[in-house]
Amino acid sequence: MRFPVPEPVLGAIGRLNSAGHEAYLVGGCVRDDYLGIPPHDYDICTSAYPDEILNIFSQEKTLTVGKAHGTITVILNSLPIEITTYRADGPYRDGRHPDYVSFTNNLAEDLKRRDFTMNALVWHPKTGIKDLFGGREDCDKQIIRCIGSPAKRFTEDALRILRALRFASTFSFTVEKTAVFAMLDKKDMLKNISVERVALELNKLMTGARPAEVFSQHPRILFTVLPLLEPSYHCAQRSVFHSYDVWEHTLRALSLTPPDLAVRWATLFHDSGKPHTVTYDPDGTTHFRGHQTVSVRLVRETMQALKQSNSLTKTVSLLVAHHDDRIGPDNLQVWLSKLGPDLFFKLMHVQRADLLAHAPHVAKRVDSHDALVKKAEELIANGACLSLGDLAIDGKTLIENGFDSGPFLGETLNFLLERVINGFEQNDRQSLLASALKRLEERKKQLKLQ
Ligand code: ATP
Ligand code: MG
Repeated sequence: MRFPVPEPVLGAIGRLNSAGHEAYLVGGCVRDDYLGIPPHDYDICTSAYPDEILNIFSQEKTLTVGKAHGTITVILNSLPIEITTYRADGPYRDGRHPDYVSFTNNLAEDLKRRDFTMNALVWHPKTGIKDLFGGREDCDKQIIRCIGSPAKRFTEDALRILRALRFASTFSFTVEKTAVFAMLDKKDMLKNISVERVALELNKLMTGARPAEVFSQHPRILFTVLPLLEPSYHCAQRSVFHSYDVWEHTLRALSLTPPDLAVRWATLFHDSGKPHTVTYDPDGTTHFRGHQTVSVRLVRETMQALKQSNSLTKTVSLLVAHHDDRIGPDNLQVWLSKLGPDLFFKLMHVQRADLLAHAPHVAKRVDSHDALVKKAEELIANGACLSLGDLAIDGKTLIENGFDSGPFLGETLNFLLERVINGFEQNDRQSLLASALKRLEERKKQLKLQ
């Protein structure tokens, strides 16, 4: 392994071996290490049965939620390590899960049930990598290849179709040709997979190195799990602002975004409402008035159907809602305050990608966009006033100066904030207090008149 394997992991392998069992590192960690990517966790596969694993680690903290599937999680030096008994899957009849799993002491049996050759590498500290299915060669050639017949493997568990696309995106690999045919053939079986598993893979795909290329190569598979995007395919945009149809424009924009989950989802859906709002001038010029609202509805429906988190759904919906809003130097502070810096900069990423995916004369505006982002960063670095907490005056000071605690106090603070972020007033304690007191006087006069 290129990256040092943590001591507790080596210790666990050693202890299993000393008790007379085989044990190897397996799956993602061996693959990632081979590809030069630091592994994010370490899984061990072993010939020991679950009760034997529990015996060997009886002095340690263990988690047994996965025991029925052969997995015991052992916590060594606060590092959780998944140790799984070699398994042979029984027949699959529902396209999702094996009818039963049986434990085995044969490593090859365990490895041949795994999905792709690159995911069936194992490693032992004494003997190095063992590679029964040519996983290293496929990694070198950057190919995702099924173990065994692709049609059979995708029929067993259709989620593997999305896993193939996910790895294609994260590693910039290509799916081997017969596997692509089988994926297309079996894609409808994805509809039987739980939405949670689908969403997990889609999110990993989305934040990978090249989701746009994967979607462009495999649109039909994408539309099986994201059907609300399908109308965008070949939806023409005839106007001086656009060089591409909606789908091509969307993918170009997506390819220009940083790997941020909300930014990527928002960019994928930002124009999804266009096919539903298109109108034509007599000369054929297209318009998509109000498409933003439809796009918000479509992305919200999609995120909810996938049971994505409420916070992700909300962020993505807001980004889609505001993707066409004009933000310039004159209203910059207002927008920063309205969205908060985090959401604001995400929106800037969506707008930048969207801009660059327009016709060249529109894309040229990217320079002023970048200048605006720089200005926003400067405003924040200089402690610009964006929220009530940044205001040079607070409720306590107002109360000390004659205000009652109550709704009018809050209204006044918001009124002052509004004036400051719109540039009508300096964020200065004295002048804010003067404005507040003036407002209080006016209020008193009004109350007297009534
Ligand atoms: P990562 O953890 O980086 O997302 P991974 O390949 O480790 O990728 P896991 O879901 O952690 O993915 O699975 C661990 C291993 O289990 C895989 O490397 C593969 O060998 C096997 N595996 C996982 N899911 C499947 C599946 N649906 N079908 C067959 N084998 C699978
Ligand atoms: Mg893993």
